[in-house]
Amino acid sequence: MAYIQNWQDRIIKQDEIEKYLINGKDFIDENKITTHLETNKNPDKNKIRDIIQKAISIERLEPNEVASLLNVTDNELWEEIYEAAIIIKRKVYDNRIVFFAPLYCSNLCVNSCLYCGFRRENGKIDRRLLNMEEVKNETRAITRVGHKRMIIVFGEHQFSDIDYMIEAIQNVYSVKEKAQNNDKMGEIRRINVNAAPMEISKLKRLYNAGIGTYQVFQETYHKPTYNLVHPKGIKSNYRWRLYALHRAMDAGIDDLAIGALFGIYDWKFEVMGLLYHAIDLERQFNIGPHTISFPRLTPAIDSDYSANSKYLVNDNDMKKLVAVLRLAVPYSGLICTVREKPDIHMELLKIGCTQTDASSNIGIGGYTEAMQNEAIHQKEYLKNGKNKGQFTLNDNRSLDEMIREIAKLGMISSFCTAGYRCGRTGDKIMSLLKTGTEGKFCKLNAVLTYKEFLDDYASEETRVIGEKIIIDELEEIEKMPFYKKGKLYNNFIEKYIKISGGERDIYI
Ligand code: SAM
Ligand code: SF4
Repeated sequence: MAYIQNWQDRIIKQDEIEKYLINGKDFIDENKITTHLETNKNPDKNKIRDIIQKAISIERLEPNEVASLLNVTDNELWEEIYEAAIIIKRKVYDNRIVFFAPLYCSNLCVNSCLYCGFRRENGKIDRRLLNMEEVKNETRAITRVGHKRMIIVFGEHQFSDIDYMIEAIQNVYSVKEKAQNNDKMGEIRRINVNAAPMEISKLKRLYNAGIGTYQVFQETYHKPTYNLVHPKGIKSNYRWRLYALHRAMDAGIDDLAIGALFGIYDWKFEVMGLLYHAIDLERQFNIGPHTISFPRLTPAIDSDYSANSKYLVNDNDMKKLVAVLRLAVPYSGLICTVREKPDIHMELLKIGCTQTDASSNIGIGGYTEAMQNEAIHQKEYLKNGKNKGQFTLNDNRSLDEMIREIAKLGMISSFCTAGYRCGRTGDKIMSLLKTGTEGKFCKLNAVLTYKEFLDDYASEETRVIGEKIIIDELEEIEKMPFYKKGKLYNNFIEKYIKISGGERDIYI
């Protein structure tokens, strides 16, 4: 396989790492993080309450403040932190949950991540790269249940390099699929990308393909652990990954998604790592991360590590870390996934998360396979272990069920893609988020896209609950002074009437 080695040797561009260093050093300083966590032990109650107040005023917290929150041991204070997380979410993101679906295009990978089912040494999975007809079929299956937003996911391999990615993205955007309840045609309106770090010239091509957010998880910010779990392959270069999103910013992609895989190293350290990442993006580009992810390690095929790591995070700590992130970086969206079991998944959505996937299938070609086998409901399909995914999923509820459940909690589901299509990204969206303005636009677009979903895809049960949410939202919007400025309210009502009458893809 000399040609693959040859391809690998050309991936990392040293000058596209070094330009981002601070006096030759990384923005992650392990000693500094450890010292913050040590020196802020047993924090004073009043100090914690001051930090909570600062966060509620939608100000990004400093490392010593976040370290103090992480060190809280008093249950009463934790309750106050959870309450603050809910207040902040409400202020910046209101009562919305944005839904998306993942599309795994290939499981070919040159890397050896100990926790991942796709790592090259795993001989227990069939390796596959979807052809473009298959990409379209998968997209049809995803679109058919009502999704409008997708995260497209690739392993790191010569066969799924930038040319393949662009072709796949174009094919996803080309699909139009009939809705479940009527003759309306649905489509994916925004594709976010999760792919290995790239050089700037390739990232520019990704940008030009019309992507939304570019997502790379650092996995762990703790370098010795990083080296341990990524023993070889391109991914063993910590710095190439650490500056992946800095390069994306230079390529023009200003909607960036950071993340850490929780369960590899100490969760408090990783929260600090995510914070420092956000701070460095702000420092170098004046734009923080659009979203933060905190996938929790779940068992992967042929990976003892994924099931037995000594740093696996329990539900209680998971809730704490999400709440602290909500306070620490109030302007960033927080993404949880169906890796979480239903109860804790709902809990995380309540206390601070703003996005989740649903109806997900992470097998290569998995959506189409599950759909073709109509005798077996997708839940059964997953339960029977036929899912050849990268790791285990724990919440197999359908999109319709999930939307119904969150409606029962008074939350509205959104499929809004207007921000990126109207140029409200990067620094523009950051300032709008910090002042609570973007949230106001999102509220309107959430109602418009929710109405589309209820009419075109929802079951009767979901539609009935959903229509009540819409009535509440319309009443609230009518009362809010913000919408009375200019023609915004009238403009919205006009669009709402058009959507109710059958027009589609209208946004503000
Ligand atoms: N190849 C891409 C890269 O290197 O960035 C990543 C694609 S991977 C499909 C997406 C993410 O899944 C990884 O970045 C990792 O955080 C997460 N992941 C990998 N193994 C996992 C496991 N066993 N449990 C939960 N999440 C996992
Ligand atoms: Fe490959 Fe990504 Fe899995 Fe690592 S996490 S083995 S890079 S697919």
